[in-house]
Amino acid sequence: MMKGRIMNDRKLLMIPGPIEFEPDVLLALGKATTSHVDPSFIEIFGRSLELMREVWKSPKGQPFIIAGTGTLAMDMAVANLIEQGDSVLVISTGYFGNRFEDITNRYGANTTVLEAPLGEVVSLKAIENELKNKHYKALTITHVDTSTGILVDPKPIAILAQKYNTLSILDGVCSVAGEDVNQDEWGLDVVITGSQKAIGVPPGLALLMASRKAMEVWHKRTRPVSNYYADWNNWLPVMQAYEERKPSYFGTPPVNLIVALETSLKIICKEGISERVKRHQNLAKAFRAGIFSLNLKTISKTNEISANTLTAVYYPKGVNGSALLKKMSDKDVIIAGGLLPKLKTTYFRIGHMGSVSSSDLVTVLSALESALLELGHHVDQGKALQSFQDSLTQ
Ligand code: PMP
Repeated sequence: MMKGRIMNDRKLLMIPGPIEFEPDVLLALGKATTSHVDPSFIEIFGRSLELMREVWKSPKGQPFIIAGTGTLAMDMAVANLIEQGDSVLVISTGYFGNRFEDITNRYGANTTVLEAPLGEVVSLKAIENELKNKHYKALTITHVDTSTGILVDPKPIAILAQKYNTLSILDGVCSVAGEDVNQDEWGLDVVITGSQKAIGVPPGLALLMASRKAMEVWHKRTRPVSNYYADWNNWLPVMQAYEERKPSYFGTPPVNLIVALETSLKIICKEGISERVKRHQNLAKAFRAGIFSLNLKTISKTNEISANTLTAVYYPKGVNGSALLKKMSDKDVIIAGGLLPKLKTTYFRIGHMGSVSSSDLVTVLSALESALLELGHHVDQGKALQSFQDSLTQ
């Protein structure tokens, strides 16, 4: 019993969230729970809100830290900004883009979806055409769609949104603290994430940053927000109070998760956002070089639109997907299967975000090489690791 447990603990979790967490974050999570109005916790909550502004590069933004998942953050953005009959443009590069369609429809929006061909992004021309022909109250962008590993450049889309007086909502669940995000400079109105990804905290926090413009649009609503839990009327006074280091209450905050969040945000800021993004970019590029050397193909068609937080890879011909995932697990590396409904069984995904290091990725490539060999896929032994190292030392 004990032996199995120890072995289990040594498995490397390389799925696109939850990820491997820093020991200091897990220690913080395990500290004795205080009252949510204890002065020490008020200080931690207040600092976490301030540190979010640094990570999002949004000195003017209004941060929200709420118990829930990334989906709640998506729901909260839409519930507060969209009213019955508003037009919304969803720019989709996969499963999570399409989730925005479900959410906006739920709040009675008139939703138009621009869906990218598989492995590609929607062109700026197609987006501008839509914005030119019809007034959209908001558009949604999925920075990294975790189902396809496609990276979208949000900056030119945010600029277009401003040109046409449309709010921009960025799903940064698989990007914030891993990919380049510059909310205020790019003019993004809402940027959301969940704790379990590159932010580096166990699942359970919905994190959202709203621009001044987004808050003004919300203030001018004609009807009350129809979602009680997600209504900013309930949460804004709480966030403002904690930032002013005053006690407040609407729903009990997840004290331990917020203590862990502060620890992780400090680690992120200590590394430096630019350095952290660069580390993700260098490791992801080298990892893709390794993947290509194993004669494998990624869903994303070019390097420029390949995410730096995860990689989605097709199973090679003749290799059974479940057998590969099982072999990887036997080799103590946990990776994820596919997610896009129509392609689910044809590809797998490897997460590489947060505290990921080159040695983690050497371990993945080495396990993958032997698993593929055992399953009869031809690879030149050692070539993937060589390509990985070459790319890193370039
Ligand atoms: N958006 C993206 C891009 C995601 O990757 C995820 C989670 N994989 C979500 C939204 C939903 O987040 P959660 O599972 O925390 O609700």
